[in-house]
Amino acid sequence: MAFAGETITYRNGKISVPDHPIIPFIEGDGIGPDIWRATQRVVDAAAQKAYQGQRGIVWKEVLAGEKAYHETQSWLPQETLEAFTQYKVGIKGPLTTPVGGGIRSLNVTIRQELDLYACVRPVRYISGVPSPMREPQKVDMVIFRENTEDVYAGIEWPSGSDEAVKLIEFINHNTNKHIDLSAGIGIKPMTKAGSERLIRRAIQYAVDNHRRSVTLMHKGNIMKFTEGAFRDWGYELAAREFHDQVVSENEVYQNYGGKMPPGKILLKDRIADITFQQVLLRPDEYDVIATPNLNGDFLSDALAAQVGGVGMAPGNNMSDDVAVFEATHGTAPKYSNLDKVNPGSLILSAIMMLEHLGWQEAADVARNSLEATIGDKIVTYDLARLMSGATEVKTSQFATAMIERM
Ligand code: NAP
Repeated sequence: MAFAGETITYRNGKISVPDHPIIPFIEGDGIGPDIWRATQRVVDAAAQKAYQGQRGIVWKEVLAGEKAYHETQSWLPQETLEAFTQYKVGIKGPLTTPVGGGIRSLNVTIRQELDLYACVRPVRYISGVPSPMREPQKVDMVIFRENTEDVYAGIEWPSGSDEAVKLIEFINHNTNKHIDLSAGIGIKPMTKAGSERLIRRAIQYAVDNHRRSVTLMHKGNIMKFTEGAFRDWGYELAAREFHDQVVSENEVYQNYGGKMPPGKILLKDRIADITFQQVLLRPDEYDVIATPNLNGDFLSDALAAQVGGVGMAPGNNMSDDVAVFEATHGTAPKYSNLDKVNPGSLILSAIMMLEHLGWQEAADVARNSLEATIGDKIVTYDLARLMSGATEVKTSQFATAMIERM
């Protein structure tokens, strides 16, 4: 029986999900349609298995990227943004950033238009996936990357431009700093409000999911008033809003004799460079990580490599009420329509989406079948080339193998 579907709403700040929610999806460009088809089949089968028809998603296609351009002459139709705003939860495949014509990245535009300020990337090892780590099972982190500020705000001017020269002259005349007139200029804005909402979200996630620690990762030793302020604002916010749940590293030494009080979450901060070293050498010391935009971008891909690469890395971009789940890799155009690539990133993103809906049973069915399939060494080309004795399958066959194992 087909359901018309209902709209997800928020009540008192909490998501309220009907049994048949309408969820908009963008299938994406390049490999997008292949991995989207696989993902949709897996999610529908997992929901069917878990709820026997009592619950199920009513999918609604919305357009962006090349398909949107062909059908509407717009790369990102207004209706697509409106659908995500109205239905609160959505999912997307990768989108090409059209080269030339002055068109900005569609992904960045979607994030900025919908104010999706938190990019959430869980990095967890799935047994059987080839990894360069000796003990990849120790990797279990969730990155909260600020998504709207920092050098990503796109405020920059080329060397010699009017704007760059004027700004440099202003700085040279009005401050005790000196910049060479020939410099290119980029601005790194970071606000208290922007940092706080991201850090609040990370700590709340740690509380809700019984995590052990939250690390503020920054480069505040060098960039004191942006990255350093991010750290200070984070500690102040935790003391103000999470006093009963969180203790800072300083407090552990000053008030608890260096021993973590039971039931509390540790709040610490680490400088970005040493964090990159320690997540490799002692990954079990890192849990939830909150970080500004650029650090978060680097860290997300570096950590993804520890658990099998971008083909296995899920992501979610969130505002206070809208969440858009997405594959973290691009459109890999050379593999378009070959039914070849790994749908793992989009499937794991969809599993995050099921958890976000509160459909834990369906999420578990999907995750267990993913682990069982990889455990049986049934994998796409990217993992097959790193494994001995693997059976290499196509994108669609990987989805079928998952569904057979539900
Ligand atoms: P990419 O599409 O991520 O592909 C780079 C390489 O990563 C591929 O050649 C492939 O490596 C591997 N890969 C990516 N997805 C895979 C999958 N599902 N399974 C297995 N391997 C996978 O990066 P790109 O070539 O730099 O970017 C292409 C386009 O995507 C650009 O237009 C870019 O703007 C866009 N992009 C979009 C997003 C997004 O929508 N969120 C993100 C990044 C880039 P091998 O060939 O070595 O196997």
